Amino acid sequence: MKSTTEHLTFTTRKKIEFINITGRVAEIVKGSGIKEGLCLVNAMHITASVFINDEESGLKKDFTQWLEALAPCAVDRYNHNLTGEDNAHAHLKRTIMGREVVVAVTEGRLDFGPWEQIFYGEFDGQRPKRVMVKVIGE
Ligand code: ZN
Repeated sequence: MKSTTEHLTFTTRKKIEFINITGRVAEIVKGSGIKEGLCLVNAMHITASVFINDEESGLKKDFTQWLEALAPCAVDRYNHNLTGEDNAHAHLKRTIMGREVVVAVTEGRLDFGPWEQIFYGEFDGQRPKRVMVKVIGE
C-alpha cells in the first residue's frame, strides 16, 4: 500500500469564508500516483471545516446565513467566551459543517457524485490554518 500526506495552509481575508479546494486536492491525488484508494481531507483546527457540496454562489450565501442564524457571531451569548475567547460561534459552526471528508479514488481520480466539490469552511480566519490531505491505496 502507498500513502501520501500533504498539508494545505489557508489565511483567509475574511473571518468567515468558503474556499473551493477541489483542484488542490486533485493535484495531490495525481501526484501520489495512487490509482485505487481513499483520500481523507480534514481541517486541523477546531474552528474550520472541510465539507462537500455544490459550487454555487447562492448556496454559499445560504450556508453563511443559515450558520449565522444557528450560531450568531455575538460574543456575549456563549459560555466559551467567558474564558476570554471570542470564537464560540466558530466552534459551533465547525461542528455543524464537519471536520473531514473521505472521497474514493478510482482510476487515479477523485470519484465524485454529480456536482460534488470539496470546500474549506473558515469560521475564525485571518490567520494561517492547515488542512491535511492523506491519500492511501495502490
Ligand atoms: Zn475558542
